Amino acid sequence: MKNITVIGAGTMGNGIAHVFAQKGYRVALADISQDALDKALATIGKNLDRMIRKERITASDKAETLGNIQTFQDLKVAVAEADLVVEAATENIDLKLKIFQQMDELAPANAILATNTSSISITKIAAVTKRPEKVIGMHFMNPVPVMKLIEVIRGYATSDEVTQTIMDLSINLGKSPVEVNDYPGFVANRILLPMINEAISALFENVAGVAEIDTVMKLGMAHPMGPLQLADFIGLDVCLSILKVLHDGFGQPKYAPCPLLVNMVTAGKLGRKSGEGFYNYSHGGKELVVADNFKK
Ligand code: NAD
Repeated sequence: MKNITVIGAGTMGNGIAHVFAQKGYRVALADISQDALDKALATIGKNLDRMIRKERITASDKAETLGNIQTFQDLKVAVAEADLVVEAATENIDLKLKIFQQMDELAPANAILATNTSSISITKIAAVTKRPEKVIGMHFMNPVPVMKLIEVIRGYATSDEVTQTIMDLSINLGKSPVEVNDYPGFVANRILLPMINEAISALFENVAGVAEIDTVMKLGMAHPMGPLQLADFIGLDVCLSILKVLHDGFGQPKYAPCPLLVNMVTAGKLGRKSGEGFYNYSHGGKELVVADNFKK
């Protein structure tokens, strides 16, 4: 495997392009937005600079990594020579089904088609292609260059050979892959999101305040971040959409999103990316400030 195409150059796409390019793969990074492509290259450059400052890589490693990445707005050109495509476009089922139909037509017949989706069924995505045995989930964690885990998700039709190839490739990237089956939320989000939802319910029922809930989980369970801070980091809209997938997929009330979460998303309070969620980020500093709505 030599040529990797990454579709979508946002938060995850730039990190995925970074780790492949740093390991010497040739990366075609594609996005419909030129602005997203420019920002992605700037972010990769900044992250490599940080690694130089920490003396983990040299300036020539940086130049080599950036030299391995080409950017494209035209999907057709971007996938023409792909051995593997990793789709990391916006989390929207109709968009993903369309991209996989296009990739199936445009990518070489032997190319593996992977998706970084957080919650959409791999089996459903594979079903719109003529190569369902070559469709697989490759769920990187954010921030990609730092986090070791890759959740490798087998769709109903994914072959043993393709699964093994992606497991081996993940190890080659310096990551630790874990193989899981394709059910709602896979493993990571099936366990994480109910915990976040429960933390929001505890706040909603006034069991404790934002800082108190996060402190209990940080100091009591040795979590690096409390669940409410983590929800802000992930994006409250993303949390809500994953909970809906769990609720629809299992049909059990325990996955019903807390009404407070629904209200906050409706009000546009989406966490860090919108400037406010459980905490307020408008001051720009690293210090955690509880949002006015939750101040006692
Ligand atoms: P993002 O919004 O930061 O980036 C998505 C990018 O996709 C944008 O740059 C957008 O222009 C591009 N895009 C949209 N339509 C496209 C098309 N037709 N062709 C090419 N590019 C297109 O999103 P993100 O947070 O990077 O998430 C990407 C995927 O990764 C989603 O499936 C998400 O569920 C998954 N994921 C996200 C996280 C996270 O913490 N953000 C973690 C794990 C997995």
